[in-house]
Amino acid sequence: MLHLIPQLAISASDLAAAFLFMYGLQRMSSPVTAPSGILFAGIGMVVAVLVSFFYVFDVNAAAHSRLPVNIGLAIVALVLGGGAAWWSGRKVPMTSMPQMVALYNGMGGGAAAAIAAVELFGAPGGASQLVVTLVGALIGSISLSGSLIAWAKLDGVLDKPLRIKGQQVINGVAMLLTLCVGGYIVAVGQGLATPLVATPTLIYVFFACAMVFGILMTLPIGGADMPVVISIYNAFTGLAVSLEGFVLQNPALMIAGMMVGAAGMLLTLLMAKAMNRSVSNVLFTNFGQTPKRKHGQIVEGTLKPVDAGDAGIFMRYASKVIIVPGYGLAVAQGQQKLYEFVKLLQAAGVEVRFAVHPVAGRMPGQMDVLLAEAGVPYDLIFQLDDINGDFESTDVALVIGANDVVNPSARSDKASPIFGMPILNADKAKQVYVVKRGEGQGYAGIENTLFYSSNCGMVYGDAQAVLVKMIEAVRALGLAAAA
Ligand code: NDP
Repeated sequence: MLHLIPQLAISASDLAAAFLFMYGLQRMSSPVTAPSGILFAGIGMVVAVLVSFFYVFDVNAAAHSRLPVNIGLAIVALVLGGGAAWWSGRKVPMTSMPQMVALYNGMGGGAAAAIAAVELFGAPGGASQLVVTLVGALIGSISLSGSLIAWAKLDGVLDKPLRIKGQQVINGVAMLLTLCVGGYIVAVGQGLATPLVATPTLIYVFFACAMVFGILMTLPIGGADMPVVISIYNAFTGLAVSLEGFVLQNPALMIAGMMVGAAGMLLTLLMAKAMNRSVSNVLFTNFGQTPKRKHGQIVEGTLKPVDAGDAGIFMRYASKVIIVPGYGLAVAQGQQKLYEFVKLLQAAGVEVRFAVHPVAGRMPGQMDVLLAEAGVPYDLIFQLDDINGDFESTDVALVIGANDVVNPSARSDKASPIFGMPILNADKAKQVYVVKRGEGQGYAGIENTLFYSSNCGMVYGDAQAVLVKMIEAVRALGLAAAA
């Protein structure tokens, strides 16, 4: 009877962890409840980690002698890993969050691959278990090396897509080679083939091939596709973790992995939709293809610099203003000043709303978080589909630190790498002001035809500094009126 208690505790804790993951994820669907959602999911993870230690009671007696050593190592790893994550999580600036997500996602894939490696070098079991372990190892390794390349690209360590002639053929050969080595490991393991080299060597070759494939697959991908890629690797990591959970018969790993896999896949689909691309198009068409033109598009018109104070005053006398925030706002950390400016406009009777593009910034939801951080009420924040039709009846579109998400060439220029991506129709407003530091391009590295159009004024400067000037100009108006 007593031996049943640990087993019951393990099952109850697995159930509690699964519930907490699901509840946490559900709460993450709105910015209002997201912080508590993260907390619930985090508690679920703590429960899942702690319950792993109960497996001491759940293994056969022969394995007990090894356990104290493994538990000691696990605790050291937990303290080191947890400490590093805590420290880096507290220090990371908002603009570097996507890199961090890519890095941690890679760690997840690497952890799944490591579990698979332990199984493969140990006792991998029957044919089906061996296949599942290898598939998990393959996906986890691709996710690890691919996510590291994604991290390097987002961090600016690798600032250009690296494309070589025949990239897709090379990728195909790398994948085929990996699958052949995997198949050979299964055949040798089942006694269906004679081992030409020692099995551990084969396993090393398998992991090396899978990692090389992940690198080759990610290197050619350019800026505009990066969000979808990170999301796909997120789904890969989840899948790899759930497969290894299946091998270890660990329900917490299975459930957490399946949820991450499903959420990653759904996010991938949503992002592909936001860019008007099918996932297969992102995966198989654009990989390795060089955009026909990157710089030097033919643009008509001129850039028209406008003084920040003048732009601020123009908005003060407008009736309707829509603000389009982008990556540059996060870089400048201008969200507090932006909301201060918005409150001044509202006090003057101007209707102000925010239009958020699904891939604005460098990670999904980054703009929502940024605006929430400044205390902007949620009812002022609108997503693309809900506000795009309103630009035509708007006096001013204030584009602040955004570029690709308002580039009209996405609508008309078939050679543009962002062709087909839905954009915010800022160009349709009566007057557009674009706040940016200079003539720097957006993430996709292309010219923006909006900036040259007749209704667009360029307000040059760091977003926060520009907003300070706008606030001062509008306040000065009020003071002059009072005097
Ligand atoms: P972009 O990267 O297209 O443009 C940002 C603009 O901000 C730049 O043109 C830059 O111009 C300006 N800028 C930078 N720093 C400042 C500053 N301190 N003050 C004022 N302006 C500044 O941003 P968007 O948000 O429009 O588009 C996002 C892009 O990122 C899309 O291409 C998307 O595909 C990609 N992406 C999105 C991810 C996501 O999940 N959201 C993840 C990864 C990539 P200048 O240098 O002249 O100041």
